[in-house]
Amino acid sequence: MTADFVRRLGGAVAFVFSCSCVAAILSSSLTNAAEKYARTQAVNKNVQISREQIAAGCAKLPSHPRLLMTPDAIANARNRIESDECWRLYYDALKNRGIRQMTAPPVERVLEGKRLLGVSRDALGRICRWSFLYQYTGERDYAARVEQEALAIADFSDWNPSHFLDVAEMTTAMAIGYDVCYDALSDDSREKIRNAIWDKGVLQSLKSNHWWKRNTANWNQVCSCGTLYGALAIIDELDPERRELAIDAILDSVNGVTWSMSSYAPDGNYTEGPGYWAYGTSFNTLLLDALTISFGTDFGRSDAPGFLNTIDYFEHVFGSTGDAFNYPDSGGGKIFEATAFWFARKLNDASVTWNESAAFISALQLSRKDSDARPGARTFHSLTADRLAVCALLWGVEIGSDLSALTPPSSLGYVGLGNKRCCVALFRTKWSEEGAYLGIKCGAPNSPHGHMDEGGFVYEDGGVRWVVELGPENYHRIESRGMNLWSSSQDSDRWKILRYNNYGHSVPTVNGAMQRVDGVTSFVETRIGGAGEASYAIIDLTPVYRDELESATRKATLNPDGSLVIEDVFTAKKDKAATIERRFIVRDTVALDSDSALMTQKSPRRPDRSITKRVEFSATVANALTLSPCETANEFDSKNPGVSALVERSQLAPGEQARYTTTFAPFELDE
Ligand SMILES: [Zn+2]
Repeated sequence: MTADFVRRLGGAVAFVFSCSCVAAILSSSLTNAAEKYARTQAVNKNVQISREQIAAGCAKLPSHPRLLMTPDAIANARNRIESDECWRLYYDALKNRGIRQMTAPPVERVLEGKRLLGVSRDALGRICRWSFLYQYTGERDYAARVEQEALAIADFSDWNPSHFLDVAEMTTAMAIGYDVCYDALSDDSREKIRNAIWDKGVLQSLKSNHWWKRNTANWNQVCSCGTLYGALAIIDELDPERRELAIDAILDSVNGVTWSMSSYAPDGNYTEGPGYWAYGTSFNTLLLDALTISFGTDFGRSDAPGFLNTIDYFEHVFGSTGDAFNYPDSGGGKIFEATAFWFARKLNDASVTWNESAAFISALQLSRKDSDARPGARTFHSLTADRLAVCALLWGVEIGSDLSALTPPSSLGYVGLGNKRCCVALFRTKWSEEGAYLGIKCGAPNSPHGHMDEGGFVYEDGGVRWVVELGPENYHRIESRGMNLWSSSQDSDRWKILRYNNYGHSVPTVNGAMQRVDGVTSFVETRIGGAGEASYAIIDLTPVYRDELESATRKATLNPDGSLVIEDVFTAKKDKAATIERRFIVRDTVALDSDSALMTQKSPRRPDRSITKRVEFSATVANALTLSPCETANEFDSKNPGVSALVERSQLAPGEQARYTTTFAPFELDE
């Protein structure tokens, strides 16, 4: 089932589903993920919520705190902390962080370019930590610090409504502080904070028909959540006129969030990649949590097709090294996401927190100075850095302290079609740091945050990443040069940037042309192998090369021995020759031979030894290999130290077809 379109009817948003046989067939042949949670297959017939339902619920709201930190949630946190060493150390780190921040001055209204977002996020982190510590310990110093922070924020001239995420995160922060510390606030403070939440938060959302209210990306989730939190925190104390408007705001959020939730269908993968998954989905689960607490139901929102499956996507989008397949604008590094625990509780399936649990146990090993600690493991202090870190405690599940006793996800792969404009295949040979991993994508460059990376991939084996994705450029740095970063038209400035165009990705370039931004590439066939079996994906790349080639396909096969084979078949147009560059963005030392390359990195477990991987190229036409730093002379492009572009060049005559095979052999550990 696919959410084909959403339309606004009167005051409510109606979801219209239509059964697409093609989508259904593709879905069933490509992945079994959709079958895992049968409940998500129930099409949401009750998705249109009426104003009367919201008004009735608002007439009998639970008392404070009703946002996140209810007595039940605090009791769950206490249970975890008192019974599990990992959770206790996590709590200790979070508390230390909160105590250290107590002496810092309150945040100030200082913009970075057009954004106040950094300040809003800082405020959200502080207020969440102190509010939690107040509820958990009962010590009023924490509530007093929340009060001081909230009064300072209430004095801001505004929360920067021209960039609404800033308002949304600030409103969320203020709502949580007000709600959770309510009984410790003076009457004057309550009134001032309440008025600020209304005037600078909820009212700003109601004032305009904001573009994000009918948008399928992360803004819709974050801004819907902010409005909902603001309204729920204060609605029972508003005058009758404002109260009616607050009901409108809640209705707007509950019905509006279905726009972004429709983008998880059918399999749960996230168009904007794991970084934005973490952002959008976190606020989406905050929203669902608040609905469930305040109204006793999330109005069936979590049953939206693909939504509960999305945690499968999120677990699989991390490689064996613990680093994410960081397409398109996702930062690198190891994400630890509190939201995973919300899904674990909802699904009663702790295996969906495999990555987070592994991070916990690695942090435990680090704290014990255990030599088994995973290379690059994060400390508990690092894991509590996120502004929503307290949510892990509120939603926590039992972890234990033995990695080998954890149950990993049942499948070695995941294939997600998303809305067909950003599809991923994620394969591994086993759930351990030694396993090989391939993440490959297709879709269209003009999808939200899209890059010209169709057919691009990351590859890991032996505990290191060999083929890399460079991630985003610094938005503010590009914008401050007057470049248009956010247009994805074919001639946009966006495509001058190395990290966004063909040349910064492991994809072909033909006749020096950029991938067509409106070409929609897709999986022709995929297979998720079981233990000891190969997994593969075949992609039709023709739509993004349609001006230069008659056809282009790529097959990527991850073998059980950890080797990876990339097979491309290109056919030139009848009236046009084609200069082909098959580019691979690789890390660390590379030595080149006539038809092969030898890549070398330090062994993550044995830094005194090196780990090597041979890459062999064969083609049915004459080819030549070159190697160069992956950078340009443009001052707006970041340097990419240690990263090289390994390029195989060849020439096709008009009408000629060629087959190219590149084999990344299993790794070897050198003496
Ligand atoms: Zn990219």
